[in-house]
Amino acid sequence: DQKQSSSNDVIFRSKLPDIYIPNHLPLHDYIFENISEFAAKPCLINGPTGEVYTYADVHAISRELAAGLQIVGVNQHDVVMLLLPNSPEVVLTFLAASLIGAITTSANPFFTPAEISKQAKASAAKLIVTQSRYFDKIKNLQNDGVLIVCTESDIIPENCIRISELIMAGDLQVNSEISPDDVVALPFSSGTTGLPKGVMLTHKGLVTSVAQQVDGENPNLYFNRDDVILCVLPMFHIYALNSIMLCSLRVGATILIMPKFEITLLLEQIQRCKVTVAMVVPPIVLAIAKSPETEKYDLSSVRMVKSGAAPLGKELEDAISAKFPNAKLGQGYGMTEAGPVLAMSLGFAKEPFPVKSGACGTVVRNAEMKILDPDTGDSLPRNQAGEICIRGNQIMKGYLNDPVATASTIDKDGWLHTGDVGFIDDDDELFIVDRLKELIKYKGFQVAPAELESLLIGHPEINDVAVVAMKEEDAGEVPVAFVVRSKESNISDDEIKEFVSKQVVFYKRINKVFFTDSIPKAPSGKILRKDLRARLANGLLN
Ligand code: AMP
Repeated sequence: DQKQSSSNDVIFRSKLPDIYIPNHLPLHDYIFENISEFAAKPCLINGPTGEVYTYADVHAISRELAAGLQIVGVNQHDVVMLLLPNSPEVVLTFLAASLIGAITTSANPFFTPAEISKQAKASAAKLIVTQSRYFDKIKNLQNDGVLIVCTESDIIPENCIRISELIMAGDLQVNSEISPDDVVALPFSSGTTGLPKGVMLTHKGLVTSVAQQVDGENPNLYFNRDDVILCVLPMFHIYALNSIMLCSLRVGATILIMPKFEITLLLEQIQRCKVTVAMVVPPIVLAIAKSPETEKYDLSSVRMVKSGAAPLGKELEDAISAKFPNAKLGQGYGMTEAGPVLAMSLGFAKEPFPVKSGACGTVVRNAEMKILDPDTGDSLPRNQAGEICIRGNQIMKGYLNDPVATASTIDKDGWLHTGDVGFIDDDDELFIVDRLKELIKYKGFQVAPAELESLLIGHPEINDVAVVAMKEEDAGEVPVAFVVRSKESNISDDEIKEFVSKQVVFYKRINKVFFTDSIPKAPSGKILRKDLRARLANGLLN
């Protein structure tokens, strides 16, 4: 039901000129293109241990690990799964896989065994890199021939491979051509509808996306060689993998890797490592804004605070500015399928443009954006809100093994339809105002209603169900369920919540259950989620 693009479409572009992007290079060659200029510089600092890897170390170890992966049978186009908290091994394995033309898919180590298994099977992962403490969750996959690599250097479970053995294993055999259109990363996302799907990001796509953020003349749009970049956001999500890890590596910055968010530790590390760029999401902004601890630390090294993945309100913007006296604040807007960055604040450019409160940036360079009227499909002029669409080399190649979902997300003319509603103002700033798609975002994490609905409908006492987002202060949004019980059932809301909790990672838990007689649906059978959201907003609930 997508309307054909017309030559009269209103197309928005960056305020900055397009740049040359060497997207014929494989991602790892592009990332290491300038490494000779900063080989001896610290590349990674492992927050918890203080261990430092220079750029030369990262380059050498990732090649050795690539050779080790080849020796245990990982071939070009095979999938390697990362099941790790933030750690140097995420960087090393991602680069090693890229070097041999393999593909990395990352999963949250807090996922339940069922959630991990779904992703491992859907992506046909051949090998999983993890820590021993997660072994029990994945040991069954060994029966299917999946190899398990543990990152510890001492005792590891039986039948697993120690990563240090792989790193020692031999010489890299370069025997395969990597095409720019080959997939290199396979994050999972539910997109505008349905269950999580593998998002195929290619070498060309990620090179383009990183270049859009950090290459070119005017910028240092984002960061540079002297920066120390905080990486506390989970690297299993494409935002941290691309906009922190890959962008930092490309420019020669230092990445401070923190495996979890704990406010005192975070402030301590910012002070100790003289962090210059803090990449955050709104819940972290909220925690910092509320914390009295901030007074005790010197946070003056921070020159830039960048928030993304979910909307950031004006109050939080003001509160965070007060905590970081020398920092500029800006937002970025991403969507996994878009590579992920669609728009970013230009307040950090060498000749910065003023940043408006609430704006999530302007469209990246070498890309086109348009805003479509959701009812007519016509493109809209400035200051009118509609569905945000983007086109450019950075967007996904498509969903893995799912041409139907791909075709309903990327149209015939190459436009990716985001399912987000926004407008572009007179100064080219993008404002997001609503979401057409069913996705729920809990602290920036994706919750796919279809996934929870399919679990709930499997309960014998539930006849029908719909899951939608409800606004909540700490998380931004939480999933709530409208449930139609079967005739004789007296199942309670707590029992329903418990039923789901056992099967999903913590942020997908149902926050509230509303019993109802029927779920509003269109004649096509599609759930009218808007009606349910309106019921929540109006307080018309049992
Ligand atoms: P993900 O694919 O997990 O990165 O989620 C993408 C979705 O997160 C987008 O389509 C938006 O709905 C939302 N999102 C990302 N960044 C922002 C932002 N700066 N402001 C508002 N929503 C955002």
